[in-house]
Amino acid sequence: MSPKTSDQLWHEGVHVNSKEYDFHGGFTSYEVELSPIYNHKWDDPKWQRRYMNVAKEIASWSKDPSTKVGVVAVSPDGKIIAQGYNGFPRGIRDEQERYDERELKYKYINHGEESCIYDACYHGVSLRGASIFIYSTTGIPPCNRCSRGMIQCGIVNIFYNREDVPERWEEECAFSLDMLEEAGVKVLTVDLS
Ligand SMILES: [Zn+2]
Repeated sequence: MSPKTSDQLWHEGVHVNSKEYDFHGGFTSYEVELSPIYNHKWDDPKWQRRYMNVAKEIASWSKDPSTKVGVVAVSPDGKIIAQGYNGFPRGIRDEQERYDERELKYKYINHGEESCIYDACYHGVSLRGASIFIYSTTGIPPCNRCSRGMIQCGIVNIFYNREDVPERWEEECAFSLDMLEEAGVKVLTVDLS
């Protein structure tokens, strides 16, 4: 990997801890070698499958009878820093009857991506520069609401397990993908088969 400037690393959410200061000319951007702990191979399918398998396990914790979504957020150096699945907010009784009544469920439920973002908030963890792995039983791209949230949190890569998009979701999914592209968020797929 070619050396990156500290400015590039900052924009990628990687914290540079080896800054040098020019005490006579102020701070200037300079070339640094990536530390091995940051040199994470995002293009390594083995690691992508590992994170996605964790997300799949977390999806199984959801009580939603129709769709199960599990999400993990991973820091630039490859650590899982937040997690979530689709479910009701903390303190709200997640009784099966409430899930079975569709309209009522929609009023209570957080999507998996939202739960992951709120988990990070709860623990005071920044998602800036993080990648997010979404496993869902539907395998479609994130909804508009979650896409907006992930953009605003500073997520830089989104991985999901790709399945065919049902016709009724095509418009929403296309809008999400367009919005994510415009915001500069990469969307990639992971094949667990
Ligand atoms: Zn969503």
